[in-house]
Amino acid sequence: MREIESKIITDTIAEMCIEANHYLTPDMEKALDDAVSNEISPLGKQVLCQLKENLSIAGSDTIPICQDTGMAVVFAEIGQDVHITGGTLTDAINEGVHKGYTEGFLRKSVVGDPLERVNTGDNTPAVIHYDIVPGDGLKLTLAPKGFGSENMSRIFMLKPAEGIEGVKNAVLTAVNDAGPNACPPMVVGVGIGGTFEKAAILSKKALLRPAGEHSDISYVRELEEELLERINKTGIGPGGLGGRVTAMAVNVLTYPTHIAGLPVAINICCHVNRHSVRNL
Ligand code: SF4
Repeated sequence: MREIESKIITDTIAEMCIEANHYLTPDMEKALDDAVSNEISPLGKQVLCQLKENLSIAGSDTIPICQDTGMAVVFAEIGQDVHITGGTLTDAINEGVHKGYTEGFLRKSVVGDPLERVNTGDNTPAVIHYDIVPGDGLKLTLAPKGFGSENMSRIFMLKPAEGIEGVKNAVLTAVNDAGPNACPPMVVGVGIGGTFEKAAILSKKALLRPAGEHSDISYVRELEEELLERINKTGIGPGGLGGRVTAMAVNVLTYPTHIAGLPVAINICCHVNRHSVRNL
């Protein structure tokens, strides 16, 4: 049984909070570059160039990419041969979020009760998803999620007879309804199958796949390509000001489901599709 000290996890998560809020992953930087090349609307191109300049200033001057530094979403893949010492994994992650958001001067955006709405003051708690996997490693993925785009995310419990056309309509409805509110160009995560909550988690996990990579399942790959093309024909464009590039990627994940259902979740992310990954 391999041991990992909880303090190492805390310090790692703190670093990841700061990193994810100041730098995008190379695939997202490339997606923005491609968007500039593909955009034909002058205003759309201007918006994209400003987003690129903003990203460059964020990295060079250590200023967050966006004022909304998000709610910290963490995916923890824990090897079944790992033992965390010195505290629980949940506490270690939340202490890391506290440290990262405090020491990194990142905006604290979390309220402790959804209706009483008092800010917790340190961006905790994180939303944590745990998976037990083979081996003795711990993989942590931190994805701060802004709520301009989170608020535009949707779930549809379709009837099986609605099939793939129903799925396409659901995604296009969500994107059209989101319009400029999701700070386009977007990355669209889609979860198909499972149960109500499984589809939602799949759609969030789908956002982690590098932009430009497709599903290994051929019909899902075709679905991703068709949806991206159709989303980019809506004309919403960068910043919602019109143009060709409304989305930079559509990533779809699927899971077995019940004979009587076809859940479809659409988790929309803005152009600041942030994540940081560490293997401990
Ligand atoms: S949706 Fe994204 S770009 Fe818009 S305010 Fe939130 S984090 Fe920033």
